[in-house]
Amino acid sequence: MPPSPIIITLDGWSSCGKSTLAKALAKALGYVFVDSGAMYRAVTLYFLRNEVDLSSEKQVQKALSEIELGFVFNAGRGASDVYLNGENVEPLIRDMKVAEKVSKVAALPLVRKFAVQQQQRMGAAKGIVMDGRDIGTVVFPNAQLKIFMTADQETRVKRRFMELSASDPAITLEAVRENLARRDHMDATREESPLRQAVDARVLDNTHLNPQEQFEMALGWAKEAIR
Ligand code: C5P
Repeated sequence: MPPSPIIITLDGWSSCGKSTLAKALAKALGYVFVDSGAMYRAVTLYFLRNEVDLSSEKQVQKALSEIELGFVFNAGRGASDVYLNGENVEPLIRDMKVAEKVSKVAALPLVRKFAVQQQQRMGAAKGIVMDGRDIGTVVFPNAQLKIFMTADQETRVKRRFMELSASDPAITLEAVRENLARRDHMDATREESPLRQAVDARVLDNTHLNPQEQFEMALGWAKEAIR
């Protein structure tokens, strides 16, 4: 009998390479990869476009009732693109306008409830790798493998800068450093589902590891967990 599929969670600080590793793991295992941050970013894009007042529960609730999120596999990227009410917003959600607002939006209890419900539904069939901030602690507290990723802050800043400067030549290292520090702080100190290392998580510090080394380490853990 083939081994039963499991749930793998990957949480950690911003720009640690969580999605890159999660995508590679999912591919190797034939699992579904879900980037939960993309959901918070898509919701943020909708809020920005519709000038939703974050201090008004009524407006937030109404906006959420108008949002339909979906994922469609993009063979070119080898991962799913996030769709907002039928529109592929993947190319839009990584820019700084969204990055500057997303941690504020993601701190709202109504927004978290909306996203977590959908994430739990996506994991019902198992065979999933999901990355985020609260996946091993709140979304799937019973996941069979939890990984907590971390890396030295300056290393993360440089990696994100390289990624963003490819599409935005005006971006500065300072702006990226500032955004990362602010998001890390907000994600770790918010009241609702703050970023925490689950007690049963395996820690992967990738400051000195290349993508292949990280992948091999995580795949080894996954094989141990899938029995
Ligand atoms: O992972 P990514 O950096 O794209 O996530 C964007 C933002 O979404 C994070 O800075 C965080 O504020 C929020 N987020 C969250 N919970 C998750 C995933 C992301 O609060 N599970």
